[in-house]
Amino acid sequence: MKSLRHIFLYCLIFFNDASFAIEVENSYQKQSLLAVLFKRTSAEYKANTFQIYSSAKGNIDKALADKSWTALLNQKENYQNLPPAIILDIDETVLDNSEHQVRSIKNGTSYPIGWKEWVSEESAGALPGVKEYLSYADAKGIKIFYVTNRTHDLEEYTRNNIKSLELPLDNDIDVLLMKNEKGWTSDKTSRRDLISKDYRVIQIFGDQLDDFMPSQDTATTINNRKMLIDNHSNMWGEKWYMLINPMYGEWEEALYEHCWSCFPEESDRVSQRLKALE
Ligand SMILES: [Mg+2]
Repeated sequence: MKSLRHIFLYCLIFFNDASFAIEVENSYQKQSLLAVLFKRTSAEYKANTFQIYSSAKGNIDKALADKSWTALLNQKENYQNLPPAIILDIDETVLDNSEHQVRSIKNGTSYPIGWKEWVSEESAGALPGVKEYLSYADAKGIKIFYVTNRTHDLEEYTRNNIKSLELPLDNDIDVLLMKNEKGWTSDKTSRRDLISKDYRVIQIFGDQLDDFMPSQDTATTINNRKMLIDNHSNMWGEKWYMLINPMYGEWEEALYEHCWSCFPEESDRVSQRLKALE
């Protein structure tokens, strides 16, 4: 009997050791735990996102009636009688990719590992309020453009995902403008300029500063980035709408001086994060 108990204890210790052996090292990814939980579990995030789309919807009629109204910094001449359009980023603006972040934490992996697999599942959900807003805009005859830095090879998955959520996606012209398509870079300025030739853009939605203005302006210091908000204070909440993304983005890149290769080790990046607290 005594030896049976010993065997049982031995097995317990052995399997405990085995489970330790396969445990993933994810201390770096775990630093984003609260950010991911905020997005996925908080009623506050849901309310914030909903109120952005709800207030944008409330401004549509005013924007349509005022022919001088444009949300594009470069749209200055001969646009007043063009048909109206809106521009939306996709990730963390229309589609919720927090599931990908959850997997990164569980697997101890970082972008781009797992990203293409996640996108190819075509299962991202829509953010709260976006469907109601887009349905209203669509019913008003507003052209809806999606300008995303998902790469061109992911276009079909992205198209299918948007369609499966029954969000408006016209097919008379290309309204889904991807990175690397037709030579487009990650700077969205050229794509915004292209739209501005044929449309008066009344509202823009994004979760990154460069969804609204050129990347060369936004890839700057933490303080300069905040100053850009002041410089365009008349745009926010009227023509521009910023969705909250605490999980990733340009704001994090600013911590590394927009130079990932300057801080190649995860520990270096954590040091930069701590330094930013000072
Ligand atoms: Mg985005």
